[in-house]
Amino acid sequence: MAENFTPASLPRRGAKIPVDIYEAPKGNLQSLVVGKFIDNKRYPLWQIQQWVVSWETRGRVEVSQDHDVYYLFINNPRDWDIFVGQHNTLNFKGSLLLLRPWSYTMSYKSINFSATGLWVKAEGIPFILTSEEFATKIFGTAGGVLDIDGNPNSQAPQRFFRARVWTQLGKPLVPGCYIEYEPDKLLWVDFKYEGVFHFCKKCGVIGHNTAECRKSWDEAE
Ligand SMILES: [Zn+2]
Repeated sequence: MAENFTPASLPRRGAKIPVDIYEAPKGNLQSLVVGKFIDNKRYPLWQIQQWVVSWETRGRVEVSQDHDVYYLFINNPRDWDIFVGQHNTLNFKGSLLLLRPWSYTMSYKSINFSATGLWVKAEGIPFILTSEEFATKIFGTAGGVLDIDGNPNSQAPQRFFRARVWTQLGKPLVPGCYIEYEPDKLLWVDFKYEGVFHFCKKCGVIGHNTAECRKSWDEAE
């Protein structure tokens, strides 16, 4: 088969077609959430539909599939929060399903699954340091901080901090950070990534187990 010719090196010269994207005939796509498994796993559509039916949603969520991409139509707007408000990922049989909410310029090509928001717990922070400002600093070492959970400014001692952090998926997860409480005196803080079950202890990347890793120990160091 001949390859498609894409004159990518040419300047972008082409006709302009004016459209009103907000008046487009497929306006009902606004209930769409696109999902893809992090390890490119594919499950049959009926399995995914059965799983989705088991969620406690107010309306029916219809699923369709195109290769490794799942399209979820959230028919009741009040269910929308489950997908967009609370979660960037869901877990099915230990695999992480990455979710992308509808946007007006969404196309198959534009859907980016290289990063996602993950809930991260930080354990080991001294009680005396609990503040939102400090929590943001801590989680900022793992990625972009989207939300901080609970009330980190509370005077009451807290077991852990929790935040949703924008995480690059092809890169090793950050395992934690140090707090330098006096010059050269360090305390280690552990990060725990919620819902991440397939995680490589060799290279630190999500989506495969240590035994499946293609990197040698030397490369991973
Ligand atoms: Zn690996």
